[in-house]
Amino acid sequence: MARDFLKGARDSYDCIVIGSGLAGMTAANTLARTGQSVLLLEQHYKLGGMATWFKRPGGHIFDISLHGFPVGMIKSCRRYWSKEIADSIVQLRNIRFDNPMFSLTTTFNREDFTRLLIEKFQLPEADVVAFFDAARGMNFYDDQSTTVGELFQKFFPGREDVIRLLMEPITYANGSTLEDPAISYGIVFSNFMSQGVFTFEGGTDRLIDLMHKELVTSGVDVRIRCDVEKILVRDRRVCGVRVNGRDIAARSVVSNANLKSTIFRMVGEEHFDRKFVDDAQAVRLNNSSCQVYMALKPGSDLDESLGDLLFSSTAPLFRTDALLSRDITSRTYSFYYPRTRPGSDRSLIVSSTNARYEDWAKLSKEDYEASKRDLVETTIDALARYVPDIRERLAHAEASTPITFRHYTQHLNGASFGTKFEGLAVSRAIPEQVGGLYHAGSVGIIMSGWLGAMNYGVIVANDVDSWLLKSATRPPLAATT
Ligand SMILES: Cc1cc2nc3c(=O)[nH]c(=O)nc-3n(C[C@H](O)[C@H](O)[C@H](O)COP(=O)(O)OP(=O)(O)OC[C@H]3O[C@@H](n4cnc5c(N)ncnc54)[C@H](O)[C@@H]3O)c2cc1C
Repeated sequence: MARDFLKGARDSYDCIVIGSGLAGMTAANTLARTGQSVLLLEQHYKLGGMATWFKRPGGHIFDISLHGFPVGMIKSCRRYWSKEIADSIVQLRNIRFDNPMFSLTTTFNREDFTRLLIEKFQLPEADVVAFFDAARGMNFYDDQSTTVGELFQKFFPGREDVIRLLMEPITYANGSTLEDPAISYGIVFSNFMSQGVFTFEGGTDRLIDLMHKELVTSGVDVRIRCDVEKILVRDRRVCGVRVNGRDIAARSVVSNANLKSTIFRMVGEEHFDRKFVDDAQAVRLNNSSCQVYMALKPGSDLDESLGDLLFSSTAPLFRTDALLSRDITSRTYSFYYPRTRPGSDRSLIVSSTNARYEDWAKLSKEDYEASKRDLVETTIDALARYVPDIRERLAHAEASTPITFRHYTQHLNGASFGTKFEGLAVSRAIPEQVGGLYHAGSVGIIMSGWLGAMNYGVIVANDVDSWLLKSATRPPLAATT
């Protein structure tokens, strides 16, 4: 008989959270700490969503999305998770760029970038200061019509090299392009510039394990292998979910799943106004990415002068289209030294490139497997420029593609960073359409990435808490449609 992953679950909760990405888990933990009863449902067999890892024989552990996040994670983790989690966040000191226009190493903060822009790129100090101040002064309610490209042209006209330095890491970090609103760039860039790039010591497996324990301590009912088929709505009010063939009632539901699949697959457009449906349909998904995961033989050390993150490109100029092309010219390498997991003797390298879902989805099974093998081989060749004897030192190498991300997280098109900017307004408008229904997850560039997703979870948890207090006197609707 199939195992019942909902065994012992109650028939009704104050809130059901669908998805255990960082936004979903943080929303669940924050709500449970206020005393609300919370059920967290995850379709995968592991918690974490994109914040995940995988193991391979021989003791190799690969992190999927632990490449770097801004310092704000320390404060968010301390407030909404635990001191132990916050205290494990450490800075990455060596961020490198290597492309036909320049090669440099930086700590990736305002002080060092200011120095580089003045000394290496020969820019007037006043222009550099004005640019940083403008980027830091941006907030969500600002002008949304200026594009990133226009912002750069205003401060550094004609300086393709400067644009590359300022833009390449952010494009890699969240898929944003020169055509996106400048505000989405300004906020994310300034977050990083405040103190540099940080990581979690001990790896994603340790982080998610600590978070899981914290959820249980806070009283969240955590369930894996629970794929929510339907969000149940009656009279424009949410009343529960259908999961693993069972209807469970709730006064509120937070979906951490992809914004578009939440609206169109789990709820159904008949429960929303026409205008809202049109806006939701117009939301563009963010792009996806490919990775090559490489483990060195045990005890095989990497020279730390390679850096922690290396933005490498052979393209003469920075162009978003070139970044997405199957004809790869740009790769970002994350070097994981043994200190990533203290006590380990393993060195690992992950190469990432932005990618389009369509390019991979159209391939036959044979071509798909052949393309993955080709991706691994060409990446090893490209890496040999920095680690000449890489082939002899490799113990394991494999690739992931947009199809892989779609498979594991159910994100439409394997989108690594949810949706483009317009997704945020749609996500925020959901509760105005269906009482008690919320969305918290990667949307609109600002609310994506580890820090953005986590903070969005907190914002939405506070909204849900207010809704629950307001609707406390109303009995929950029965979870039947
Ligand atoms: C390759 C890669 C590298 C990245 N690198 C970085 C980085 O260096 N720094 C950084 O800050 N960010 C990085 N990110 C982005 C970051 O990982 C994500 O933005 C963030 O983790 C997303 O969190 P989320 O809360 O939006 O949910 P997600 O992680 O998208 O999780 C959603 C969860 O919902 C679950 N779910 C979906 N549908 C259902 C359903 N019907 N029923 C139950 N559960 C469901 C999924 O299984 C999943 O667990 C990277 C992402 C990728 C893919």
